[in-house]
Amino acid sequence: MIVGRPKAAVARDHVRRVNRWTDIAAVQADLEELPPGIFAGLDAAVLALDSLGARFIGTRLFLTARVPHVDAGVLADHWHARATVSAAVPDGACQVDTWSGTQLARAGEDVGMPCVAAETGAGAPSTLAMGHAAAALAAHELLALTGAIADGPRIGEELRLDLRRGRYDAFRLPLAAACAADHVLAAGRVERLDPSCLQASLGALMSTCGAGADTSVVLATRAVVALAVCEACGESTGPYLLASALETCPACGMRLASLRRVRRLRWGEAAPTVARRAASAWFRAGDAFALVPATEPARATLFAFPPPPLQWEPGAPWDGAAERFARLPKSFDLRRIRTLRIGVLGAGHLGAALIEQLAPLPWQGMLIVDRDVVEARNVASHSLAARQEEAAG
Ligand SMILES: [Zn+2]
Ligand SMILES: [Zn+2]
Repeated sequence: MIVGRPKAAVARDHVRRVNRWTDIAAVQADLEELPPGIFAGLDAAVLALDSLGARFIGTRLFLTARVPHVDAGVLADHWHARATVSAAVPDGACQVDTWSGTQLARAGEDVGMPCVAAETGAGAPSTLAMGHAAAALAAHELLALTGAIADGPRIGEELRLDLRRGRYDAFRLPLAAACAADHVLAAGRVERLDPSCLQASLGALMSTCGAGADTSVVLATRAVVALAVCEACGESTGPYLLASALETCPACGMRLASLRRVRRLRWGEAAPTVARRAASAWFRAGDAFALVPATEPARATLFAFPPPPLQWEPGAPWDGAAERFARLPKSFDLRRIRTLRIGVLGAGHLGAALIEQLAPLPWQGMLIVDRDVVEARNVASHSLAARQEEAAG
């Protein structure tokens, strides 16, 4: 039965069926649970996700891990497929630059207004045809980003395919002065931190890293609550803790509700409350944060904790298999493909189509991340689920 199986496992099985040489890591997890460090070894990746919230977090993960990436999507009702290409650099646009405050709010971001239109998780309509159309756009750009083919990638551009009207458009994304995805995460040098720094106090960590009261701390993906209010007595506090770690009201002991979540804050504002807590109150293995000096913002630095190891399932030795790829177009650099590790975030209708297109190539490694299981309503638009259901039945 395909229904009920994790989509990451369905994708893994497919890759292994058509390709025995590639190392595979299939992870069933929500993107918010994954620290940026585990993506740092990837040469390029694709975000194949419907949810604005997951796309937003995925963008920050790749900016922090400095992984060039493609964000792909479809509007199946309109026969539109889209792919947006980002080099994960401080001075180039990404898919979030054009988002409105409303879109950020729908992504679950705290934009200082009530999240009236938060996503319901019901998912958007899709079809196999549109999944494959967007997958083809994204696959070409991924191959170009990694240098696996001779074409140059269309960095900072959005590509749109309108199958109904027969139009293909490519246009340059405007670069927002202050993209909500915080490109400073992709700026400056990377300082690797010792794992023991997670046990040190936040105050000690920040002073080791050279943060002063006016330094901005930019957290990669997890937000801290900068303002919370007690639902019982109305007392407000600035706990500067993750929402999951909110403690009870200091005045009356009742529940605190988060009013303002931030990923960018001035260290001097948070220090009086959290300097003595362990750094693990904010960070986990593989996490990262940028420090931006108030006086010289151009001199930002990213500090990164070593990531937990990823479980790579090794592929078979590569002996004499090149023969099988003799019919690939001449522009495909097979030797280069053998050295590349790629990531696909999302193995739903779009990710599955992309994995179907990429799986036969003998990558060195493929990382696949998805949090969901296959549901009956997915099968009609999910290329791998439809195929495996047929094989099982
Ligand atoms: Zn951006
Ligand atoms: Zn209270």
